[in-house]
Parts: sequence; structure tokens; C-alpha cells
Amino acid sequence: IFHFTKGKGTSLNNIIAVCPGSFDPVTVGHIDIIHRAASMFSKVVVVVMKNTAKSPLFTAEERAQMIRESTTDLPNVTVDVFDGLLADYTKAIGAGAIVKGLRAMSDFEYEFQMALTNKKLNPNTETVFFTTKAEYMYLSSSMVKQVGSFGGDISDFVPESIHQKVIERLERKL
Ligand code: ADP
Repeated sequence: IFHFTKGKGTSLNNIIAVCPGSFDPVTVGHIDIIHRAASMFSKVVVVVMKNTAKSPLFTAEERAQMIRESTTDLPNVTVDVFDGLLADYTKAIGAGAIVKGLRAMSDFEYEFQMALTNKKLNPNTETVFFTTKAEYMYLSSSMVKQVGSFGGDISDFVPESIHQKVIERLERKL
């Protein structure tokens, strides 16, 4: 049993994981998932999907830059921008896992459908779900935008390093 467990642990460590999303903007909920993925997989690529957000607050490159600024403490995390099918991306970089955060049951149906589709398109990549931290259960990028646009305090919702940037952009949009 010991050898079996040990062997499994080693193989997990050689897996590249991808954390996809729109991250418009990145929240502390996203950062928590990225941290947990980084401690489990040897390499994590956060992929800002260009095509997901309809009318984004930030450009994909801006969103990627904000994630970079918020993950400088994680040497095995890189950030990329991609426009296309996630299954093509995971195939191209040889990713073994897609890591997603699951908040409520309402996330489940959509995420389950996405996971099955991605598995069909690229059978070599497994989708793994991390349970959200209880205090981030309610947190989403759209909630941050809504609260911030009405002048509400978003300092507990987004990383400190990007807080001001988000407020300024929301003010400019009004
Ligand atoms: P959002 O739903 O906030 O717009 P994205 O579409 O960018 O986020 O989501 C990227 C990934 O992060 C998804 O897997 C999503 O389930 C996960 N995620 C988003 N917010 C949280 C959170 N508060 N806790 C855990 N996972 C989250």
C-alpha cells in the first residue's frame, strides 16, 4: 500500500494543471484555487480565456497582468491568454488536469457539462474540482463589479495589489 500511495503522489507532481476562466477581474476566490492547485501540481498555467466574457471590464491582457501581480509569490504559476477551445490549449501544452473551483450547486450543471465536453475533445486531460473555501462561496467577478460600481467596499474581494486598478476602472465606466 505504501508503494502504491507513494507512486501516485509522484505522478501527480509531474502533471501540468490549467486554471481557466475569464477573471474579469481576478478575485480572492480565484487566488485561493490557484494557490491550492500550485501546491498540488508541479506547474500551473492560469489561462485567461478571451472569448468567455461578453463585454469585459478589462482586456484579456490586462486581466492576465493583474493575475501575474497577484501570484508573484508562486514560482510554479504562469499566466497566459488564449482565444479558442480550451481542449486545444490543454492538448498543445500537454496539460494533465483542468482545475476548477466549485461554489454552489448552481455551478455544478454547467461545470459538469464543460468537463464532459472537454474530456470528449481531449481524453488526456482530467477536470478536477476544488471545493470553494466557505467564506468565498458567494464571491464572483460579477459581484465585485456590481458592488464596486455602487461605491461599495471591495477590498476583501480582490487582491490588495489590484484593488485600486479595479476601482479606477469601475469609476471610469460610470
Ligand atoms: P467568475 O464566475 O467569478 O466570473 P470565472 O469564470 O473567471 O469566474 O471562473 C474561473 C474559475 O474560478 C471557475 O472554475 C470558477 O468556478 C472558479 N471560481 C470563481 N469564483 C470562485 C470562488 N469564489 N471560489 C472558488 N472558485 C471560484
